[in-house]
Amino acid sequence: MPHYKIAIVGAGPAGYFTAQALQSAQSEDLIFSIDMFERLPTMWGLVRSGVAPDHPKIKSVSKVFEKIASDPNFRLFGNVEVGKDIDIEEICPRYDAVVMCTGSSIGRKLGIPGEELPGSLSAAEFVPWYNGHPDYVNVKVPLDGDTAVIIGAGNVAMDCARILALNPTELDSTDTALHALAALHASNIRKVYIAGRRGPEHAAFTSPELRELPKLEHTDVVIDATEVHDAHERALAAGEIEKHTAANLEAWRLIAEHPRAGHERSMEFHFLSAPKEIRGNGRVEEVIFGINEIRAGKVVDTGETRSIKTNLVISAIGYHSDYIKGVSFRDGKVENDNGRVLGTNIYTVGWAKRGPSGVIGTNKSDAADVVKLLIEDLDPEPKNGGDITVVIPLSIPIIDQTGWTKINEAEIAAGVVVGKPRIKEVVIPELISLAE
Ligand SMILES: Cc1cc2nc3c(=O)[nH]c(=O)nc-3n(C[C@H](O)[C@H](O)[C@H](O)COP(=O)(O)OP(=O)(O)OC[C@H]3O[C@@H](n4cnc5c(N)ncnc54)[C@H](O)[C@@H]3O)c2cc1C
Repeated sequence: MPHYKIAIVGAGPAGYFTAQALQSAQSEDLIFSIDMFERLPTMWGLVRSGVAPDHPKIKSVSKVFEKIASDPNFRLFGNVEVGKDIDIEEICPRYDAVVMCTGSSIGRKLGIPGEELPGSLSAAEFVPWYNGHPDYVNVKVPLDGDTAVIIGAGNVAMDCARILALNPTELDSTDTALHALAALHASNIRKVYIAGRRGPEHAAFTSPELRELPKLEHTDVVIDATEVHDAHERALAAGEIEKHTAANLEAWRLIAEHPRAGHERSMEFHFLSAPKEIRGNGRVEEVIFGINEIRAGKVVDTGETRSIKTNLVISAIGYHSDYIKGVSFRDGKVENDNGRVLGTNIYTVGWAKRGPSGVIGTNKSDAADVVKLLIEDLDPEPKNGGDITVVIPLSIPIIDQTGWTKINEAEIAAGVVVGKPRIKEVVIPELISLAE
């Protein structure tokens, strides 16, 4: 019976759902052995290092991932970075197919003067800082000022704003990294602005996230009722309102009508505001926004400006993939044709393939589509290209599934005693020793 070997690079949702799609496609005539490579000693990609700590239910998908990994034909090679510890050229000949599920981890730049000043961060640094990604533990997040500005109008911007605007006691029972939790407790930030270039009707926030805002216990959420009304009028004038937009406009209306409780902490939305410049002497001190308006459905710069004094600016305007040696990238994604990397036995799924869009579940249908193509392309005879373990340098401590289970259980056990879902270990050598 044909027994094919498939390598999956990246242990995020796309990687696990690819493994699941392969496992589901198996039959008496088609067997898959799956080797998953992950650069970190910890698994689950953005489910661990992206999803906000105050949204713990979303992380329960990790149980599905662990079930997938418990299959006897699944092997994990954690702490092995493809393109650095082992080259893609060494992987490809040993597998019938290689699926790149390496995500999209670099923040897009605003491209405005002052963006490099200390205190100007990308969500791609701030989010993994509070979520305990080992590479971002030392990010400098200035929390001494009373105001923060978030640039962007999607759920990542919203997560950043909420984490800064919540009373940190609300995060005490979460898996927020301990260094970040301590910094947030000491934070002076009381006002968080979220600025979007277009109108509320264009924002990429999703309505469940908007609807939870009036329920925040210690934070007033503010949007100008006129801004919501105008957005509604513009959307009506533009024709039939799409379902997503209608749901958002209704959520905005509820936020605007929600009485302010007079909390010390607030989150305030400013639309039609495009960042022009970040100013400061040695650190961020001010952000200058150009004021836009919408004319005949188009966003137009009015020439007016507005300044917000702040020491912390976080841009959340999208991600692109990090370069991996031996893999061709285009427009911030692995260069691909519906998931196939033409002329190779490489495929791609998830954010590495599509760019940073879609929720966790989107990667499941994506994986199913690409695995279908992969199976169509398989040679009748499996390659039998030899074992990969001989080419992984001996100096690299590989975290296998047993090792990862030990890390996972140790973190959960450390959390139980203090009423948290887990305490994340954030130092790589410490993670490796937990796996022993
Ligand atoms: C801040 C944030 C919050 C989000 N919140 C939600 C939410 O609440 N609900 C929701 O449904 N969706 C949410 N999403 C979206 C969701 O996280 C993504 O859809 C999903 O994680 C994409 O999966 P992926 O596997 O393509 O990428 P990732 O999750 O990024 O996984 C990629 C994996 O590849 C590994 N890797 C990268 N390069 C290499 C290499 N060279 N060698 C080996 N391994 C490598 C990475 O370490 C990582 O583990 C959020 C996204 C972000 C950024």
